[in-house]
Amino acid sequence: MRLLAAFLLLLGFLSAETYTYWIEPCADNGTTCRSEDADLAQWALRAWQSASSGELRFEKTGRMEQAQLRFHWAVGRGGLYGEARPILVNGRRGAEIHVRPDLAHLGKEMAAIGQRDPLFRETIVYLTCLHESGHAIGLAHTAAFGDIMYSFQHGGDIVEYFMRYRRKLAARDDIRRNSGISAEDQAALRTLFTSKRP
Ligand SMILES: [Zn+2]
Repeated sequence: MRLLAAFLLLLGFLSAETYTYWIEPCADNGTTCRSEDADLAQWALRAWQSASSGELRFEKTGRMEQAQLRFHWAVGRGGLYGEARPILVNGRRGAEIHVRPDLAHLGKEMAAIGQRDPLFRETIVYLTCLHESGHAIGLAHTAAFGDIMYSFQHGGDIVEYFMRYRRKLAARDDIRRNSGISAEDQAALRTLFTSKRP
């Protein structure tokens, strides 16, 4: 039985879709990134990996040119949280993911909350990494406020969108235990893999 379980695990491991990723080291590049922001990008990928029930795997690489998913820390720009631009890397689909960790560009209210509450800032950077990497693996926007793939173009209380996640955190490390992925996001992820199968 144990052998069979190990075999099935190996089979799952081999059949998983693997993405290589790279995270830009935070340097003095004019952004408000912090070196610990790399954790947030990594936790976001781990969250998708867990939600995929073995269909997805992410492998870190130290070389940007080899990575399908490339996280960059970008300077703030009027109201923009992040973006994912599709790229091809050795014939495989990937994305340049730009995350803008500067809350000052997200409006007065967001900036003020972020200033008095460091975990609010972490919430925004984490959820942005999660949303943009969702695009990078092929997920589209939804119109459901409860989803991480929700598009802000549909409106709604954006501060509350982040606050409801923030309320789940007592410490930064709690981000690892709260994926931020809804049941519907997870269902969309499953549909993505079902549709890819021959
Ligand atoms: Zn989006």
